[in-house]
Amino acid sequence: DGAAPDALLLGADEARRLPPRPHAGHKGAFGDLWVLGGAAGMQGAAVLAAHAALAAGAGRVYLATLADTAVHALPGAPAALMHRDTHALRQPERLAAATVVAGCGGGGDMGAELPAPIRHAARLVLDADALNAVAAEPALATALVARGHAARPTVLTPHPLEAARLLDSSTRAVQADRLAAARALARRFGAVVVLKGSGSVIATPEGPPWINATGNARLASAGTGDVLAGWLGGRWAALGDATDAAARAAREAVWRHGLAADRAGPHVLIADSLIEAMLASTADAA
Ligand code: AMP
Ligand code: MG
Repeated sequence: DGAAPDALLLGADEARRLPPRPHAGHKGAFGDLWVLGGAAGMQGAAVLAAHAALAAGAGRVYLATLADTAVHALPGAPAALMHRDTHALRQPERLAAATVVAGCGGGGDMGAELPAPIRHAARLVLDADALNAVAAEPALATALVARGHAARPTVLTPHPLEAARLLDSSTRAVQADRLAAARALARRFGAVVVLKGSGSVIATPEGPPWINATGNARLASAGTGDVLAGWLGGRWAALGDATDAAARAAREAVWRHGLAADRAGPHVLIADSLIEAMLASTADAA
């Protein structure tokens, strides 16, 4: 009858094969990305996000860790991930062209690091403890609303409890109407919102939301959310300022993340192998 649908199903047409990189491309052409997170004891989350961002195509990835430990001393952090402290992320000129993925293993004290990325990052993904900081500190929520008004693109990737905190609601209420919760957050912050969990919802301030058809409980283990945030940011960095890049990166990342789990063996898919599985799926025939 011509009425707008309640939701669209995110299915197999969602860019199974990624376009080849331009033959003469160099790393500077595929975007700089910063992962802000990895407080003491939780650096694995930031390392996973950084690896996933590289796998998704970001040209250069930096870790801005909130811990004193040098990232170089961490098992699993390759030399390709250049360690910087968070100082660089307070410099507007460093942020003007950058993608920032904030919150993975950020811990409870990361709010002080967020105002500059919220104000100045070209592209911003907020996950986990960055979302908790926005929920806890009204000044950060106000800054995020202002970012939306300024049409600077943002993607939020809450799981149901993080969404409930942002909405001052409960997990039960969020889960009772996931479409409404995702839409409410998208409108409030002028952001693309990925409400994670079984049947992840992707909402934008305007237009119908998508529901993802891939994925299963093999993803229900620590670190898979960090991989999603990093992959999403890395793909977004590579897309740059293409039309609809934020929502496109979100749809592709969510779909491919679930696809990898659907193809995995019968047990669990731990986060390290998830990145490899997502990477392998990019070689499929369209
Ligand atoms: P987090 O809650 O941040 O650890 O992220 C977990 C990731 O795994 C999200 O991308 C979820 O959508 C996904 N996930 C967890 N459990 C399930 C499930 N039962 N079905 C589909 N996806 C899931
Ligand atoms: Mg998480």
